[in-house]
Formats: sequence, C-alpha cells, structure tokens
Amino acid sequence: MDPVAPATDPHGEIRDAVRQLCANFPGEYWRLLDAQRGYPTEFVAALTEAGYLAALIPEEYGGSGLPLSAAAAILEEVQASGCNGGACHAQMYIMGTILRHGSKAQKQKYLPPIAAGKLRLQAFGVTEPTSGTDTTSLRTRAERQGEHYVVNGQKIWTSRAEHSDLMLLLARTTPREAVRKKTDGLSTFIVEMGEALGKGLTIRPIRTMMNHNSCEVFFDNLRVPAANLVGEEGRGFRYILDGMNAERLLIAAECIGDAKWFIGKACAYARERVVFGHPIGRNQGVQFPIARAYAEMRAAEAVVRQGLAKFDAGLPCGEEANMGKLLAAAASWAAGEACVNTHGGFGFAEEYDIERKFRETRLYQVAPISTNLILSYIGEHVLGMPRSY
Ligand SMILES: Cc1cc2nc3c(=O)[nH]c(=O)nc-3n(C[C@H](O)[C@H](O)[C@H](O)COP(=O)(O)OP(=O)(O)OC[C@H]3O[C@@H](n4cnc5c(N)ncnc54)[C@H](O)[C@@H]3O)c2cc1C
Repeated sequence: MDPVAPATDPHGEIRDAVRQLCANFPGEYWRLLDAQRGYPTEFVAALTEAGYLAALIPEEYGGSGLPLSAAAAILEEVQASGCNGGACHAQMYIMGTILRHGSKAQKQKYLPPIAAGKLRLQAFGVTEPTSGTDTTSLRTRAERQGEHYVVNGQKIWTSRAEHSDLMLLLARTTPREAVRKKTDGLSTFIVEMGEALGKGLTIRPIRTMMNHNSCEVFFDNLRVPAANLVGEEGRGFRYILDGMNAERLLIAAECIGDAKWFIGKACAYARERVVFGHPIGRNQGVQFPIARAYAEMRAAEAVVRQGLAKFDAGLPCGEEANMGKLLAAAASWAAGEACVNTHGGFGFAEEYDIERKFRETRLYQVAPISTNLILSYIGEHVLGMPRSY
C-alpha cells in the first residue's frame, strides 16, 4: 500500500482530477518561480479554469457550491503534488466573509466574475506592523466622508497584493477610545485594487525566505466607495473571526498535503538509496522519524476531518479547527525534517525540491496564526483557563 495515498473520502474524484492538473506543474516550474519570486500565473489560471478556486461559491453565482471539505481536499492535493497553494488559497477563505456578510448587490457584482476567473480575490489586509497578532489595536483608519470612506494607514504581509484584483481590508472606523469593546469599531471593505493603485494605494513587495508574494501596503487618503463596506459598519472584526475556522482548516489541509509529499519522497528515497551495502531505509534511525511523522500526520488528518465534518454540518468547530491547524503544521514540519535527513546532502539541493517545500511549510507555524496563539485558544476557550493577553 502506498502510505501517502489519500484515505477514502467523498471527494476522491476531485482529488484525482486535482492531482492530474498538478502533474502539469512539476518541480522545475516551481523552482524557477522560487528563484525569481514569481507568481504562478499559469497554475492559478489552470485551477481557476477547472473551477477549483470557485469551489465554495454557490451555484447561483457561477461556482460549484461545494462544502469546505471539498476545498480542503483540493488544497491538500495541490500540496501533496509538490505544488504551492499559497499562491491562491486565500480566495477560498476570504470568500466566506462576502458570502456570509456581503450585500446581495456585492455578491452579484463580485462573485460571478470571481467564479469565471475574471477577478481575483486573493489579498487579505489584516496584519499591521505595529499591532501584529493584537488585531484590535490596528491603526489603519477608514473615515466616512459622504459616499466614500477615506482610508489611511499601513498593512504588512498582505500576500498576493500585486496579483489580486480585490482586497478584503479590515480598518478601524470608530477610534478604539470611543468604543465599549475593543473588538467594536472595526469594519471590512472590498478594495478594488486596480482602481486604487496610484490613487492612495501603494504596494511594496517583501522578499521572504520562500516565494509567497507578500507585500507592504500603504493607504494615503484612499477613497473607497461606501457601497464597498461589507456588512455593518463596526462589526468587521466579528466577520473576520467568523472566517477563522475555515481558514485554519484549509491551511491545516495544506499542511497535511505537504506532510504526505515529504513522507512519499522520504520513503521512496529510503527504499532506493544504498549505503553500506543496504538501503538506508533498513536503518531504524532513518525509518523511525518517517514512521513517526506519518503517524503524526494521520492523527492531524483525523482531527482536521472531524473539524471539516462539523463545519459542513454547521456545528461549532473552533476546537477542531485550532487543534487541527496546530497538529498539521507540526506534522508537516516533522515530515520535512525527516525528509531532509533521509536525503542527506541531497535534501539541500534545489533540484530535489525538498529544501523549497521545507521553507514553504515552515510558514504555517507562524501564519496565518502562530502556534502560541492556538495554544492560547485551547487553554482559554477549550480548557477554561484565564486569558493570557
Ligand atoms: C509569509 C507571510 C504571509 C502572510 N500573509 C498574510 C496576509 O495575507 N494577510 C495578513 O493580514 N497577514 C498575513 N501574514 C501575517 C501573519 O498572520 C502574522 O505574521 C502572524 O499572525 C503573526 O503576527 P506577527 O508577525 O505580527 O507576530 P507578533 O504578533 O509580533 O508575534 C511575534 C511572536 O510572539 C508570539 N506572541 C505574541 N503574542 C503572544 C501571546 N499573547 N502569547 C504567546 N505568544 C505570543 C507570537 O506567537 C509570535 O511567535 C503573513 C505572514 C507571513 C510571514
């Protein structure tokens, strides 16, 4: 039995089809982009044409109206094939805010062109340099002036900002001192980036250890139509929180895909590489870390699938989403470690793609939410201990 074959699940056909699509984007494709810090335009176009990035858009708006578990299966297979869903995964979880809280007019305006691949919704402007994880301390202001909001401030780590037509922006509309709860007074907006560039919106790429197309974004009296406010003014933080479980489950699915890729590579190499007259995989020092990583990946997968099942059934799933993300990020990192060690020196050679995937999967212990903050969630919300911050 192939130890990394996907377990039987209702999305088997989607998984097969995604794997077939990904086979057209082999290691060389990603290696070149990695060196250039380029955007995988062709890959994203192929996923879009096949309808995968519109999986969560309801059919009435031109999408496939699939459950979150299908989106997770898509992203997991992308990663398990050695590709990088980080180029486009945000479209799947940003969508939820517009779907749940956007007006009918906003949905009619944006969702069909997103589903058709004419618009990309890939940028999510939440994190700021001074506030970091403490989101409610963010400083970007949006002030209502007639039929517009005027936005001033700065975001950091806004991934894919240069490659997205739309950004979902979180900004403060009522000063923190003037609200009863610090979570009040924040609002979400759809920013049409093409329209805004050069008219108050500036984007500056940040070079990072892996190819993630992250940017700094500056707002200088940017005018955003009031019609682009999503939901009610002042309730934006709740809308973003609403989307967190979906985001965590999808990222966890990506980590599981990464772990499967590393484990598959490590097993294959351990079976064929002969040193001291026998395959290195016969040595338990080589075999056990891979076996352990596999067990950890399977445990994470079980929690993530539980979370997805609850999410799709409309049940609370904060515990599973957070634990799934924590365990899956740890499992993909352990699998990456085992894979590098198994390959010895070749683990560091670019042409094996292992060092690239190793760098890529490291991100998920810090973003979109750090492991510490997940532990805080479990400590406080699951185990009832006092809040630490
Ligand atoms: C490549 C990349 C892409 C990203 N993409 C996006 C994006 O598209 N949109 C977006 O909005 N953001 C994005 N982010 C930002 C990401 O969500 C944040 O980096 C992450 O949430 C951590 O915030 P911070 O970097 O400000 O760290 P800080 O908040 O400064 O935290 C630093 C460290 O301190 C720890 N820490 C802080 N407070 C506590 C506490 N109370 N208890 C224990 N530990 C604590 C954290 O765990 C972390 O390890 C991205 C980041 C990266 C690196």
